[in-house]
Amino acid sequence: MAGISIQGVHKSYGALNVLKEFSLEITDGEFVVLVGPSGCGKSTMLKILAGLEAASGGKILIGDRDVTDLAPGDRDIAMVFQNYALYPHLTVGQNIGFGLKMRGMAKTEIDKRVQAAARILAVDHLLDRRPKALSGGQRQRVALGRAIVREPRAFLMDEPLSNLDAKLRVHTRAEISALHKRIGVTTVYVTHDQIEAMTMADRVVIMRDGLVQQIADPDTLFQKPINLFVASFIGSPG
Ligand code: ADP
Ligand code: MG
Repeated sequence: MAGISIQGVHKSYGALNVLKEFSLEITDGEFVVLVGPSGCGKSTMLKILAGLEAASGGKILIGDRDVTDLAPGDRDIAMVFQNYALYPHLTVGQNIGFGLKMRGMAKTEIDKRVQAAARILAVDHLLDRRPKALSGGQRQRVALGRAIVREPRAFLMDEPLSNLDAKLRVHTRAEISALHKRIGVTTVYVTHDQIEAMTMADRVVIMRDGLVQQIADPDTLFQKPINLFVASFIGSPG
């Protein structure tokens, strides 16, 4: 099974309990979306999973390995943020390969992986350009490319579409889904947008005020929302 196991994770900032209890078993290859209103703790959970924040308690396994106390770089995951800052002075190819170079990988291997990632994302004709010569959508694809080249065990994405205009958002959403179908990497995706959640997810985790309300596939959520909050949040008739 491997995948990712999140066991009773909680987080407080002083007296503020922003994550009260979060447990989730994610199967290898699954696309899981955490969704809920602003401030409910989605980003906090993702940062804890990435190792960017320490949990106040609980345990996280990635591929059967306890990573609770490991640094982000030792967790075999790649994070895609909403502010996909690319290095302006580097080319697209150098941006995509930057993390691998930092790791000391040989240039021929870096070039091979950058080419492959760029092909998957259809930016292989842009490798010599600088970020400022790209459209918003192309930049977002380059940001995804930086995650893909690392061939991580999982992708973590925090509102990756929120900087894009409405049209591009729908387009990029479809691209991320297609990418997931093609390479099948376990993905944990955070959004406050229920439509994004319901269209992209294998399973959706609905959160409110630091607590999980329901975990289910979109169809079940729609047919059998567990409470009124879930029903109204996803706009189910039930
Ligand atoms: P979401 O991503 O669902 O919008 P967050 O996980 O960013 O929510 O935040 C959850 C809650 O934790 C919010 O009330 C936020 O203000 C609070 N919070 C987040 N980071 C910190 C921090 N470093 N210190 C204090 N409170 C924080
Ligand atoms: Mg957030």
